Amino acid sequence: MLTEVRTRNVSSLLAAAMKSVDGLAEMVKEEMKMHLSPTENHRYLMSQGTPALQYDGGDVRQWQSRLRRKLSRLVGDMPKERCGLRPRSLWKREHALGSIEKIVFTSEPYAAVPAYVCLPRDVAPPYAFMICVQGHNSGMHNSIAVQRDDEMQPIEVEGDRDFAIQCMRHGIAALCVEQRAFGERREQKQKVRFPQICHDTAMHALMLGRTLIGERVYDVDRGIDYLASRGDASMKSIGVMGNSGGGTVSLFAAALLPRIAFAMPGCYFCSFQDSVMSTRHCPDNYIPGLLKYAEMSDIMGLFAPKPVVIVSGKSDELFPISATRRAFRELQRIYDACGAEERCHLVVGAGGHRFYADDAWPVMMKEIEALQRTEVANRHPKGHG
Ligand SMILES: [Zn+2]
Repeated sequence: MLTEVRTRNVSSLLAAAMKSVDGLAEMVKEEMKMHLSPTENHRYLMSQGTPALQYDGGDVRQWQSRLRRKLSRLVGDMPKERCGLRPRSLWKREHALGSIEKIVFTSEPYAAVPAYVCLPRDVAPPYAFMICVQGHNSGMHNSIAVQRDDEMQPIEVEGDRDFAIQCMRHGIAALCVEQRAFGERREQKQKVRFPQICHDTAMHALMLGRTLIGERVYDVDRGIDYLASRGDASMKSIGVMGNSGGGTVSLFAAALLPRIAFAMPGCYFCSFQDSVMSTRHCPDNYIPGLLKYAEMSDIMGLFAPKPVVIVSGKSDELFPISATRRAFRELQRIYDACGAEERCHLVVGAGGHRFYADDAWPVMMKEIEALQRTEVANRHPKGHG
């Protein structure tokens, strides 16, 4: 009798439990139908139609000038009048591959830019210059492979981020610019409350009608002003390179600054949808309204027909290679349309989120050498001695 009562109790408990599991599953289903996550709505918006100024197969020059005008406005307000650069030398020394000088110049009021000028040994001016920008690491000191706080101490740099060393090794001069919110320009005047080092700077820029991308591109432009003032730079052979956060600025600088002749953005080129709109990224990646007008292939397409070497990692989780390849096909379409399909390269390294010097430089050097040959030919046209 007692056993029977117990069995009955257990079965009713089980039945109640099953009912509540069913109920829970029903609730989850209902919640899914309700689309409670904001991302669902944003993904829906992204799936609706194409960005308004995406390349549509027409005249490339006209399309570029419309999108470039729009992009210049979207990256925000930078000074209309340029202030004096007031460059100052901090130190200079010989290096096995050439010479390195540390300077500081003024980009805009209250914005000093430390930089290294690296000149390759046994190369006569005018120099081809590569502007090197680092990403989310300890700063530009990585470009010359020394410690940040003791620049006499050499360091091993991981992931081929010693960009200026690579430049000098290839007979190219380098201007390594410290980017806002990184390295020596990290925020030091106010307490940073968020884990991403650029969070506060990026947010404050937005409130001022700017973007951190716009500010960083402006510094690259002022770096080019500085190179123009030196007298030893070949102004038709100025390039830009960087990885990750440096890849971002390389891409936008190439798109916006007409004086840049070649570009090598690393570990950034992808689609916005599959990178900065899919995984958590630093706030310095975002430009208000950009995706209404263009995808990343369009932004890079503003650089056509000039030579670009895009460097990616096969297993880069932040910028997935399948989306990079799709975006590259879109970019090729733009280069094809201006008859420059051979100027647009994708180099894929065998690993993750890092630079791949051995894969990238041979491709870049072929392009730089071709540019230099054209420049020499233009300087000494046939029949004019
Ligand atoms: Zn950042």
